[in-house]
Amino acid sequence: MAEDLQKKMANQNVSAIAGESGVSLAHPGESGMSLKAQRVDDERFMRMALREASKAFDMKEIPIGCVIVKDGVVIGKGYNQVETMRDATAHAEIIAIGTAAGKLENWRLDGCTLYVTLEPCPMCAGAILNSRVDRVVYGSPDTRFGGCGTTIDVITGNALKRAVQVTGGVLADECLGILKAFFQQMRLEKGDTGKKAPSTPLI
Ligand SMILES: [Zn+2]
Repeated sequence: MAEDLQKKMANQNVSAIAGESGVSLAHPGESGMSLKAQRVDDERFMRMALREASKAFDMKEIPIGCVIVKDGVVIGKGYNQVETMRDATAHAEIIAIGTAAGKLENWRLDGCTLYVTLEPCPMCAGAILNSRVDRVVYGSPDTRFGGCGTTIDVITGNALKRAVQVTGGVLADECLGILKAFFQQMRLEKGDTGKKAPSTPLI
């Protein structure tokens, strides 16, 4: 009886979590980690990714930030720097993958989780596969160019046969909010000063 009750309570807990957030429950927590603990962890690291996004905001870059975590420790981070570096590939994820590989002195990021404020584009989803990241957690879905299932799905059933867990919707409102605020500011500045706004607004 006690076991049945425990199971019932566990199921209710899962339903409660699913009801409160947009987080996919397709993939349960890492071994030994409860869904609730994983959600707390995911939100904590997504806030760090948001801090990276705010650095991009301050540099008038589209505010997207990323951190890479291994064994609970941030080993790589980055933010979008396409305009600053004049490099179409200087997305937050690519920069974070590079810094994480530098930290580990190894391009193989086995056992790592990548947190990014906006769903990775197909280029970054490809880099995620190549870098062997185990899990991707993103904030806001990208309805225009999302490469993890929203527009295109580079990850599921990939030809490299790499298993990558994908969880979307973590702190989605905050992650979308910083993008909206950025484009609003760019439009205002464009109106006031004629300054050129980024050519490919996402929102
Ligand atoms: Zn990208």
